[in-house]
Parts: sequence; structure tokens; C-alpha cells
Amino acid sequence: MQSTRRSFLKGVGAGVLCLTLGQMGFDLGEAKAYVRKLKIEGAKEVISICPFCAVQCQIIGHVKDGKLVSTEGDPDYPINEGSLCAKGAALFTMYTSDHRLKKPMYRAPHSDHWEEKSWEWTLDQIAHRVKETRDRDIILKNDKGQTVNRFETMFWMGTSHASNEECAVIHQALRGLGVVHMDHQARV
Ligand code: SF4
Repeated sequence: MQSTRRSFLKGVGAGVLCLTLGQMGFDLGEAKAYVRKLKIEGAKEVISICPFCAVQCQIIGHVKDGKLVSTEGDPDYPINEGSLCAKGAALFTMYTSDHRLKKPMYRAPHSDHWEEKSWEWTLDQIAHRVKETRDRDIILKNDKGQTVNRFETMFWMGTSHASNEECAVIHQALRGLGVVHMDHQARV
């Protein structure tokens, strides 16, 4: 987002005002709570979970006129009791960000640019390439003639957007293919 001189001055002005009122001993908590109340007044509460790690903190989403207007930790949920880490606290901005990807992006080998692709095309490509690579590289037996079914030329990187249960299913599917090299993004 580009900052104009006007928006910069407005931002600085609001910051100075808050700082001054705060320094003068005014409790800004109530004013902030009031502004927040206005924002979510009449909104429907929708319970969901933070998608960023396996803790799965519970979130309350406020939906007004079919649009998400705010997210916050659910104080009634025993795991997070309303608190969220920095990633979960920034969840709403992920929804509103212009940088959010909404379609698969593909960069062809040796290409210098990304192309937007459909999910159908992307999933077909993944299935096709996994099968082709596995058919070519699968190691069925080791040097001693023992069955090993090892698929060593594919690496799987998991995502914190998957729940524990999804990770368990993905792990089993990969082991079924013989994949031995895998890791999880939340660990990195
Ligand atoms: S990323 Fe943070 S807020 Fe989200 S589930 Fe994990 S600990 Fe909770």
C-alpha cells in the first residue's frame, strides 16, 4: 500500500494524540474497546480454528453482511483461553491482504515468470509427476534382496495449515508411496 503525505500526517497525528492522552493519564482501553464494539456490533459470531500450527487455537470470527470484519481468540476455549500468538493475532490481515494468493501459481522449468493455473490443472500435474517419478525411481529391494519399497527421489514438505488429523492421513499416504524424506514447515 502506498502512503501519501496526507495519510502519513493523519497517522502521525492520531499516534501523537493517543500518546498524549495516554501520557496525560487517560485510560485508552475503554475508547479502544468502544471502537471495537462498534466494528462488531450486530455481527454474527463464527467459531473456527487458527490454521497456522497444530496447537489449533480457537478463533471467533465476526461476520457482518457476509464479510469477515474481525477475528479474535475465543476466551471460552480451554486450550488458548482467548490468547493467540503473533501469527494467530495477525490472522485477519491474512484474509484482507492484497498479497494473499487465491489461485495456484506455476513457474515452468527455465521460465522467469509465474502463471496463474486452475486447481484442476495443478492437481493433475502433481498426480502425473508423482506417478512418473515413482514409476521411474522406486527401489523395490535392497542389496540383500529384502523388500524395501523406498521412493527416495521425492521430498515432502508439510504445512502448518494442516491439522493433526490431516497430517496423519498425509503421512500414511506418503509412507504408502514409499516416500522416506519428509519434514514439516511448522518445525522449520
Ligand atoms: S499459530 Fe499461534 S495462534 Fe495459531 S494455533 Fe498456533 S499457537 Fe495458536
